[in-house]
Amino acid sequence: VKPRIVLLGPPASGKGTVAAALSQKLGVPHVSTGALFREAISRGGVLGKEAKRFIDKGQLVPDDVVMGVVREWLDDKPDRAGFIFDGFPRTEVQAQRLDALLRERNEPLTAVLLLDATDDTILRRALGRLSCPKCGALYHVEFVPPETENACDKCGEKLERRADDNEKTVKKRIAVYAEQTQDAVDYYEKQGILRRVDANLAKEKLFQRVLSVLKSDKTS
Ligand SMILES: [Zn+2]
Repeated sequence: VKPRIVLLGPPASGKGTVAAALSQKLGVPHVSTGALFREAISRGGVLGKEAKRFIDKGQLVPDDVVMGVVREWLDDKPDRAGFIFDGFPRTEVQAQRLDALLRERNEPLTAVLLLDATDDTILRRALGRLSCPKCGALYHVEFVPPETENACDKCGEKLERRADDNEKTVKKRIAVYAEQTQDAVDYYEKQGILRRVDANLAKEKLFQRVLSVLKSDKTS
């Protein structure tokens, strides 16, 4: 059975990093919502055009369009029996509809992982991005620290926090996530398929933990 995984977690929980590493390890594609839409748009079909209309206006893409795009993505290539969805499903309705779609194909989810991080961790990670105002080099206090604290490795300039990462914005993103996704989390929990992983761990440890959770879960 090819792994069919949904990865849930707040912004800056390390979801993207875990998904990319898992994708490599398990040999199944990592599919973020953004990538799903970009692919649909480049295919040029009706659904891609619909999705683009909402994205261009900065609005949420409606469930019917999202589900259509997911169905198209699954149908597009025959080897898409396995995947890691990252950022989808976002709501309980989407979770239910994904289940229905996968049941139709006889390819149910094999695991749902929730990366559980405290608000403190999320803030620290989200606010940890630094950039060099002189040469544009990017750093992260935790993940890609400069050799000398707060100085650019390349040109020595004093590093600055990324402008779009202020605390208020991050807190708002966390609140929006919690409000939307809690129902999807509850839905998977009721089904007994949800596995929680402590995402306050450092990157390497977190990935090892994810792997061991998936392994201990093997029923087939
Ligand atoms: Zn620099």
